[in-house]
Amino acid sequence: MASNPADLEFTDPLTGLGNHRRLQDKIDRLISERADDPAPFAVGLLDLDGFKPINDLFGRAAGDFILQQVALRLNAAMDDSATVARVGADEFAFLYPMVFSEDAISQKTRMLIEILSAPYDIGERTARLSASVGCSLFYSGDETTAHLLNKAETALYHAKRSGRGGVVVYTREMEEAAKRVTRIEQALRRAVSAGEVEPHFQPIVDLVSRKTIGFETLARWTDRDLGFVSPATFIPIAEERGIIAPLSQLVLRKATEAARAWPEHLFLSFNLSPSQLVDQNTGLQILSILNRTGFDPRRLEVEITETGLMTDPASAEKIVNDLRRIGARISLDDFGTGQSSLGRLREFNFDKLKIDRAFVSSILDDKPSEHIIRAILAMCEGLNMDVVAEGIEDEGQAARLEQFGCAGGQGFLFGRPSNAEATLGYLRNTLRAPQTANIS
Ligand code: C2E
Ligand code: MG
Ligand code: MG
Repeated sequence: MASNPADLEFTDPLTGLGNHRRLQDKIDRLISERADDPAPFAVGLLDLDGFKPINDLFGRAAGDFILQQVALRLNAAMDDSATVARVGADEFAFLYPMVFSEDAISQKTRMLIEILSAPYDIGERTARLSASVGCSLFYSGDETTAHLLNKAETALYHAKRSGRGGVVVYTREMEEAAKRVTRIEQALRRAVSAGEVEPHFQPIVDLVSRKTIGFETLARWTDRDLGFVSPATFIPIAEERGIIAPLSQLVLRKATEAARAWPEHLFLSFNLSPSQLVDQNTGLQILSILNRTGFDPRRLEVEITETGLMTDPASAEKIVNDLRRIGARISLDDFGTGQSSLGRLREFNFDKLKIDRAFVSSILDDKPSEHIIRAILAMCEGLNMDVVAEGIEDEGQAARLEQFGCAGGQGFLFGRPSNAEATLGYLRNTLRAPQTANIS
């Protein structure tokens, strides 16, 4: 009971549970008790999934009531030695002094999630909740309370990322992975401000004439210490850690500067990440770079993915319309692998669709891939969209795609991504090629 002021400091007024201070205090004490006793113990952080929408839907008073019910259920589920505390708006934490293994804590917390998933009566209505939990175990006296809670936090992050109702127990591998991401993030921040990320360009060709019609810009980064880092690694980190906007601006600036030297009929395509389609500054940033470098927006193609449209369709639509208005074209990238929705093809008018490499690489030996590609091609024709097949690696694939009526192609067969200088050399050679052919 929280009757005297000293207790109040350790109590959450809404639920009567201990607060984060009470929890920390208990963990501190347990760590010192275990100094001579090698037995591990477990902590867990539980986050309610989708609590905010419930608060919005049923009102704040109902939200408070649900939190109190959650607290009651959790408290009732604790065994003698265990403690539960409320450590955030919709976040609870437990301390299990007598749980010694990853399996045991995982079992315990699954039961808690089960208990919380029973419906909550709010007047006439009922609400349902799920929860995600991250746990960590104390193994050695070197660990502090903060360290233990950080590990649980990381585990919770992984649990949330893998969907609702998950339990993740922190492992060594997670610690290594988290450290590596942080190292890459720091190195990337430095590289972006030093202007060290470079655009490379991969040719996109007309499959019938085999002439280059444009290039896709692909970001390349070689760090002094880390060496070459693949965009498949650093782009998601840049997105997650808020570096994607400056990175993207740097690459687009360099790419448009390079592309000014190309023949005018060639387009430049550029990838936008999902988070950039949520940021309403994106359109303006692109426009200001084009203005500064003097690159004609009508030569720009912007590649976006269905994932990018999903997060916030209204925001994405606004950005797409802004880009369209200045004359840029919009392509739908990696089509067929994400959460494809044909409805979206109707809502957004894409100028071009890029068939994902997964279908192209199996076109020769997999009937379903062949059928899917033919269906996509028929659809593009009907919707009046251009089409490019990605990841063409050999002549057999190119010939089959051409036979099916696919107009555009991209892949190692026609050229690997190369830097600005090599691309210029490539263009000089290919543009000279027809003359050479005439002479011989
Ligand atoms: P993407 O936009 O689908 O780009 C095509 C990827 O396929 C590139 O990988 C390219 O090198 C690779 N590729 C092209 N032809 C072939 C082929 O014949 N065989 C095989 N096996 N691969 C081929 P990369 O450069 O590693 O980029 C990976 C992804 O990273 C890109 O996929 C794109 O989503 C993202 N990305 C790259 N640069 C940027 C950028 O500047 N901004 C943003 N937002 N994303 C970027
Ligand atoms: Mg792309
Ligand atoms: Mg692609």
